[in-house]
Amino acid sequence: MNSTNPKPEARNPKQIAIPELQFTCPVPLNDHATVQMAHGGGGRLMRSLIENLFLSAFAEGQGRGGEGENGRRQTADGGGDVSREDAHAECPQPSPLPTNLRSVPGEGTCTRHAPRPTPHAPRPVAPSHDSAVVRVESDRLAFTTDSFIVSPLFFPGGDIGKLAVCGTVNDLAMAGAKPAYLSAGFLLEEGLPLETLRCVVDSMAAAARAAGVRIVTGDTKVVDRGKCDGLFINTSGIGWVPPGIEVSPARVRPGDAILLSGDLGRHGMAVMSVREGLSFEGALESDCASLADLVEAMLAAGADLHCLRDLTRGGLAAALNEIAADVGVGMEIEETAIPVAEPVAAACEMLGLDPLYVANEGRLVALVAPAATERVLQIMREHPGAVGPVRIGVVTADHPNIVALRGRFGGERIVDLLSGEQMPRIC
Ligand code: MG
Repeated sequence: MNSTNPKPEARNPKQIAIPELQFTCPVPLNDHATVQMAHGGGGRLMRSLIENLFLSAFAEGQGRGGEGENGRRQTADGGGDVSREDAHAECPQPSPLPTNLRSVPGEGTCTRHAPRPTPHAPRPVAPSHDSAVVRVESDRLAFTTDSFIVSPLFFPGGDIGKLAVCGTVNDLAMAGAKPAYLSAGFLLEEGLPLETLRCVVDSMAAAARAAGVRIVTGDTKVVDRGKCDGLFINTSGIGWVPPGIEVSPARVRPGDAILLSGDLGRHGMAVMSVREGLSFEGALESDCASLADLVEAMLAAGADLHCLRDLTRGGLAAALNEIAADVGVGMEIEETAIPVAEPVAAACEMLGLDPLYVANEGRLVALVAPAATERVLQIMREHPGAVGPVRIGVVTADHPNIVALRGRFGGERIVDLLSGEQMPRIC
């Protein structure tokens, strides 16, 4: 206060104070609708983002996996841990989480997810820590990491959050591991609507619950406008390999049957159809899904399952070529046996793409001993994680390192790796 100002009682009340009482708070308030640089600055705004958005989603029960140390649930707060009960004792119940986010083509936001009231920040019951401490149930751990860049962020059948969980869960499952814990690193572009981020985070929480994993630690950084496509996510995951399980390319042998868990190309063409503004008769949705439960069922049967590979970037062609080259075997597959849904085939034809190379996010190939073929196929047919599983070919000692396709008219051609990328920013 300036000592030369008149005393308040000497002034008309309407004249009092407004200029003198207006002051600004040096700490940014929490009412931003979009990501600010300060959300990554390590200060109160970042703290608020973590507590109100990430913790409130990831602290909820995320699955049937193990508890953290001392039975407490680990959260995304840089490893801080929060018990579920304490975290939500005073919170309003959040609206039901979406299981399937969709977008209007061309818009970067989720339109099916009703905005929910800002929850009270779940207060950690223990101090935040720099690492999550978790229990594991085996001395054989699988550990993997993947980064996810997809445009648009929301596409028919999924979104970048679901993709980031399922992609890493599936890589763990391909090693025969039971996925247990994930980390999540977020690169956020300044200006990203916080409601978009909330939709993605809620979708991650829902996908984690469905897959039986827990997101236990995470990180957030903000980059300048124009420096990323709104949002990039990295997830790392650990899982444990049950005793007696050996699923590895090293076990692949000539004579192994090549089994495919479903039709090809849905993820890549769902994303491309939105990006290119194409519409087709019949649903064209991504196959994005966790394969962990399907793999668990396949392993539980005790069938002689040699190798698994999920068919992500580069599709079936890349997966088979990688295994063939790593092991030094050949592959022979039948074009007529490989299922491709009509809308996918139409989209591929329109865009000049080969479905063998298109990314999937919920399909796998299984290389199994000949005697186990029918048993594994039967398990897959009975599981919702497989959609029309089929035997598409055989591993051979002939033409090592080469994948050969017998065409529908009898000719044979080599299915090689592409020299470049067929579709960028797809997964
Ligand atoms: Mg993979």
